[in-house]
Amino acid sequence: MTDGSRIPDVNIKDILRPMLLGLPEDDLDVMAQAAVVRAYAAGETICVEGEEGATFFIIVSGRVDMLKQFDDASERFLHDAGPGEFFGEMAIVYGGSRTATVRTAEPSVLLEIGQRAFLDVLGSSPALAIRILVQMTARLRDSDHQAIIALRETNEELRQALQQLERLDRTKSDFIQVSAHELRTPIAALKGYAQMMQWHSAVQSATDLHMLVEGIVTSTERLHRIFDSILDMSRVMDGGLGIHRSPVSFPVIFQGIHSDLKQALQERRLTMERQGLDELPLCPADPTLLYKAFQHLINNAIKYTPDGGCITITGAQVVDPELGPSIEIAVQDTGIGISPEDIALIFEKFYRTGEVALHSSGTTAFKGGGPGLGLAIARGIVVTHGGRIWAESPGYDEATCPGSRFIVRIPMSPPHPPTAQSGATPLADVDTDAKGDKPL
Ligand code: ADP
Repeated sequence: MTDGSRIPDVNIKDILRPMLLGLPEDDLDVMAQAAVVRAYAAGETICVEGEEGATFFIIVSGRVDMLKQFDDASERFLHDAGPGEFFGEMAIVYGGSRTATVRTAEPSVLLEIGQRAFLDVLGSSPALAIRILVQMTARLRDSDHQAIIALRETNEELRQALQQLERLDRTKSDFIQVSAHELRTPIAALKGYAQMMQWHSAVQSATDLHMLVEGIVTSTERLHRIFDSILDMSRVMDGGLGIHRSPVSFPVIFQGIHSDLKQALQERRLTMERQGLDELPLCPADPTLLYKAFQHLINNAIKYTPDGGCITITGAQVVDPELGPSIEIAVQDTGIGISPEDIALIFEKFYRTGEVALHSSGTTAFKGGGPGLGLAIARGIVVTHGGRIWAESPGYDEATCPGSRFIVRIPMSPPHPPTAQSGATPLADVDTDAKGDKPL
């Protein structure tokens, strides 16, 4: 901020009179006595937004720009002002800081009046008060107008940026989907050959060789599952999950999942209890998709529960305030739990908490690594059914294992008429060989 050079020997009253036409001579006297006239070069800062200010300015000649800080790096032009116009009154009237930065746009002469004299005259002269009020209002309206224009411009920029991001996102999803498809085919062949080798007499009789081939089979199965998950995820992102509704029996779904995961449960000495499922009515839903969603939840319950723990699946009929009559399935485990800061994020794709060990065959190993897609896929499936999914946990603690509970609600009446009876994309190709990946 600069102090301009004071211009001495000017008749301030003569300058003020035409500018404040109608102001009584006494008031003009008070103002003139308290005023000074200064000259400023172009580009000088008269007052700075946010700083304290106690001077009222009247422009005698020249022009000033009023500017507002837009972000850290730039200022936005609000409006300009010329001879006879004034500024600086807001900070005085409201006793606050400057609401804008004022800079001379060209060499200018300003008449400056201190706070006390200004307030004295303002208090005694309704004519001046009204003039100031009118100008303040006009300026506020102008600022409003500028703000709306700026907002419109920003909205348009954001809309265009969003469109571009959506295009890029689609290109990325297409790329992921095509790559996953292309890679899945040779991996399926690899898995088939490895399985054939596994049963070859030469391999059967050589223990070392047999272990190596078993390793190849397990790894290719895992790769196959990862690519399936990536394909599922890209369909969730595309909104390409076609629902084929039919009456779903929850006991059948969980019996299937239990059979698929029996070996893992035994190896990890985990029990899986089922409560209230037999009493549930048939639910109009897609059995293949629901199977997949619950498989991810139970697979996680196995992964994040130490050996010897218990997984409890509970079914109930509830009336959800948003969904109406619904089936509620809760998957409760006695595992390591989830911290409050993670609980809202775990449904995001590729989100994984903490340092999770990466096991090459760790789909059901304790804290075995995964691509971080299971919950995002489960959520996509539940949401496609018009349902809700959320997680509850007292917190994360590997020593006390407070456990986690995943709750799914599927409405008994679908929110929209059943869709995608034809031409829908199934969630994942049937892979009857891959453990834990068998649709109903
Ligand atoms: P991941 O492939 O890592 O298992 P998910 O999307 O299935 O991916 O899960 C995301 C994260 O949520 C996991 O990495 C894990 O940290 C946490 N999580 C999921 N289920 C459980 C659970 N039952 N108990 C504790 N943490 C869990």
